[in-house]
Amino acid sequence: MRNVREVLRDWEAVIGLEVHTELTTLKTKMFCDCRLSHDDPPNTNVCPVCLGMPGALPVPNERAIEAIVMAGIATDCQIQRRSYFYRKHYFYPDMSKNYQTTQGPVAFCMHGHLDLEVTGQGAEERPEFTVEKAAGGSYVVPIRILRIHMEEDAAKMVHVGGTEGRITSASESLIDYNRCGTPLIELVTEPDLRTPEEARLFMEQLRQTFRTLGISDCSLENGSMRCDGNVSIRRRGDERLGTKTEMKNLNSFKALHDALAYEICRQAEVLEEGGVVCQETRHWEPSRRRTVVMRAKETSDDYRMYPDPDLAPFDLSDEFIERCRARVPELPLAKRDRYVADYGLKRADAAQIASNPAVAAIFEEVVVAVAKDVIPTVANVVVNLLPATRAVTAAQVASLADLLANNTITFAAAREVLETVDGTDANPETVVDERGMRQSTDTDALKTTVDEVLIRCADQVRQYREGNRRVIGFLVGQCMKASHGTGNPKLFNQLLRERLKG
Ligand code: ADP
Ligand code: MG
Ligand code: ZN
Repeated sequence: MRNVREVLRDWEAVIGLEVHTELTTLKTKMFCDCRLSHDDPPNTNVCPVCLGMPGALPVPNERAIEAIVMAGIATDCQIQRRSYFYRKHYFYPDMSKNYQTTQGPVAFCMHGHLDLEVTGQGAEERPEFTVEKAAGGSYVVPIRILRIHMEEDAAKMVHVGGTEGRITSASESLIDYNRCGTPLIELVTEPDLRTPEEARLFMEQLRQTFRTLGISDCSLENGSMRCDGNVSIRRRGDERLGTKTEMKNLNSFKALHDALAYEICRQAEVLEEGGVVCQETRHWEPSRRRTVVMRAKETSDDYRMYPDPDLAPFDLSDEFIERCRARVPELPLAKRDRYVADYGLKRADAAQIASNPAVAAIFEEVVVAVAKDVIPTVANVVVNLLPATRAVTAAQVASLADLLANNTITFAAAREVLETVDGTDANPETVVDERGMRQSTDTDALKTTVDEVLIRCADQVRQYREGNRRVIGFLVGQCMKASHGTGNPKLFNQLLRERLKG
């Protein structure tokens, strides 16, 4: 099979995602007060409501409605004043009620969008959607969101004794109803994505958004965020959509990307050989890097959907919606733009800091504690040194940035200082003094170090003289090491070149 990049030269891919997110930060289930927990022994958090015993009556969880409204506001959806819960019927042991409570044609949140910023490659693949060329060759595309609706999760099933946990080959299936009735929001995009890479970026950005809202831990690995990928292809220039297939079991960003890429290539091969793509649900097998048919696509008629007579139409007051709006924090993209505008950060640095709420919180705490001209150094430390640490305080980062900005220490020394103070309440400046790490501008001392290094590294010296100028980087590194990070790398570079000339 050809690779996806080649295929996408002839064909255009059309991708839409359906994303289920468990509201893991809530304490209780959607329609009863059973505890939500991933850690309890199987089948301990259950009651007549979530098991669907006759006569048990559901009561919606207000916290869950708040969470979905916040998700809708964050994605610019129209929040519906009145919406409905429906029963979606199916027979499978993971739902002992034999129907799932979900929403019908009108969901709490309708017609929003999430703006996707794609850097570099891919821009040329979708000129018709490009609304804004952003800095550095990236482009911004609003991915339309059809709806976000509320539903409940089913029980967790484990199929034992087969291959890849698939039911068809299993000898036994185990059911844990603890997960049954977990509040779940399903977000459905319009088919606006064009490449597997865009689909992956969309998921990453959605995850950042939901995490910032604090409504879920959004773990693809643990299944608290799950994604189905729908994809079809059409000849470039065609307006009509092709027949799509839907892929389940995409439990990592890589699986999402690779499954879509595989499926695009498979469909192209089918069509190029004169065949037709069947509308069906397929299963991604990561170990064999292929998709296989699960079932022919069911239609909504199969589910006998109708409004749940146990749940009244749901009315949201303006006051409730405004309360939710007030609880939506600043989102990562807005945060990034503010960092660029207010602090003059590079866009990529700003984006990296803004994408992680914990990192952004430290950054903001440090920024108010330092002088304005130290802020770029703070960003440098936060982007390059902070990720390797476990527990560094804002005060420590501020002090370290000051030491760097006024050239008291080198970057190499800063790394060592941060490692030392990590997890303690030690003051970086004290560490610098105790270890004699102040940057040396004493040229004679540096020259001594350079000479030592040149003697030790005769091999590299020979290579340099033979024309391999790149070994200078290695030699500078050796000098930095020998001086315990106190020498200035620029000065070392200069001194080395002078010595090597002769
Ligand atoms: P279904 O009824 O099969 O679930 P939907 O209309 O609900 O289909 O769409 C499900 C998802 O598939 C949505 O994300 C939508 O954007 C996407 N989708 C719909 N038609 C196509 C298509 N022809 N190609 C790719 N994706 C599509
Ligand atoms: Mg669907
Ligand atoms: Zn219950």
